[in-house]
Amino acid sequence: MHKNIVVAVDGPAGSGKSSVSKEVAKRAGLQYIDSGALYRAITLYVLTNCGEDFTQDDVSRLLNDIRLKQFFNDDGSCTTYCNGVDVSEKIRNETVATHIGKISDIVVVREYVNSLMRNWAKDHSIIVDGRDIGTVVFPDADIKIYLDATVEERALRRAKEYAQKGKNIDVNELKVQIARRDQQDINRPYGALRIAQDAIYIDTSAMTQQEVIDYMYSLVCDRIHSNYRT
Ligand code: C5P
Repeated sequence: MHKNIVVAVDGPAGSGKSSVSKEVAKRAGLQYIDSGALYRAITLYVLTNCGEDFTQDDVSRLLNDIRLKQFFNDDGSCTTYCNGVDVSEKIRNETVATHIGKISDIVVVREYVNSLMRNWAKDHSIIVDGRDIGTVVFPDADIKIYLDATVEERALRRAKEYAQKGKNIDVNELKVQIARRDQQDINRPYGALRIAQDAIYIDTSAMTQQEVIDYMYSLVCDRIHSNYRT
């Protein structure tokens, strides 16, 4: 018998958290939770029901009606459902990105998302990515990882992702957007982006994605094996 493990992966926008976490989850047989997708789904729901002029009261009220579910699929993708509707694609649009900072600053929203994730963690070994996973959501996580990269490198990676989808976005514009999101994430009054004291800090700027995956996978395997021994 071994106990379930929790792997917390935090870091700024564009540091590669979700891609590497999904790959590590697939290889190590863990469930993956995308906390950003949960904040995105709530933002989409609020925008759909109240438009862009929503108030905090609107958001608190709407939280009572929201049922979120997330599935980590065998092919390594992650699907997010809001009240039975697959919103995985829709939550990645620009309007959601514009308003998500305001929604994810609201304490009741953060508490709602945190309690969902803690419930999901009860029955599985999980890897969760976000901003405050190792500091607030799972302060006792078995492994805490903080993934970082320079703003320049993160903007270049985003530009490449867009290019693969046939979109040409100016790297400088992406740099400005990323720096703005960093400020929002760092200065949030509750659940701000921080490096947990006991986190393993990985600067991925000069690493390939595969190198990051292999390193994280080795950390997870060491932990699983030490759980078997104790
Ligand atoms: O990870 P992703 O870029 O999808 O997250 C979208 C936004 O959701 C972030 O910019 C941040 O404002 C918010 N977020 C958060 N706490 C988390 C995960 C995401 O506030 N744990």
